[in-house]
Amino acid sequence: MNIRLFEARCAACRASFAKPELGDFAYGSFIFTGVSGTVHAYFEAIENPVWKRAEGFVPTLTNGIQRGDFLLAACAHFADPVGGQRLTADHVCPKCRSHELASWAGQRMGEAEIPEASFRTFLSLAEADRLREIAEFKSGFEAQQCAASDASE
Ligand SMILES: [Zn+2]
Repeated sequence: MNIRLFEARCAACRASFAKPELGDFAYGSFIFTGVSGTVHAYFEAIENPVWKRAEGFVPTLTNGIQRGDFLLAACAHFADPVGGQRLTADHVCPKCRSHELASWAGQRMGEAEIPEASFRTFLSLAEADRLREIAEFKSGFEAQQCAASDASE
């Protein structure tokens, strides 16, 4: 899928880089980023089987965790790697790997062909294994979010 790139700036190292943006009309569609920040994947949540499985865990989320944040993070985590990089739903600076951006959606910087996120590995698991993996991911995600909110208080 051809996606437009716009200038973003990292809050940590101040590097500017081209970041794909879907714009305001892409309801249910998202961009995942590789953990090194140099690859991306396009993700459509609607009808996605991993999203649907993860949704089953939403009623038991620890207080304060946003449903959408958990579902997106889970789908990025279970997506097949792109170019050898695991994917994340966070922003990632390609220079220093910080997740904090100072600005984004700035000047237009051309466009890029972004592959659609695939879930071959996850979908090849037995159902019981998928559910166990999501439960494990959920515990880790909750622990991480609790640590983050403790740190900011
Ligand atoms: Zn940076």
